[in-house]
Amino acid sequence: MKVLYCPKCRDLFKLTRKELRECKCGRVKGKYRTKRDRNRGTDET
Ligand SMILES: [Zn+2]
Repeated sequence: MKVLYCPKCRDLFKLTRKELRECKCGRVKGKYRTKRDRNRGTDET
């Protein structure tokens, strides 16, 4: 299980495979993925 954290609104949320999740302020969002992707920005490495 992966989690993302947004330092701006201090929201910590889990990622799911089914849907795109985002924090309360919408600054950080992401989706759990099994393959590594080259998309930049919202996804952590
Ligand atoms: Zn946020």
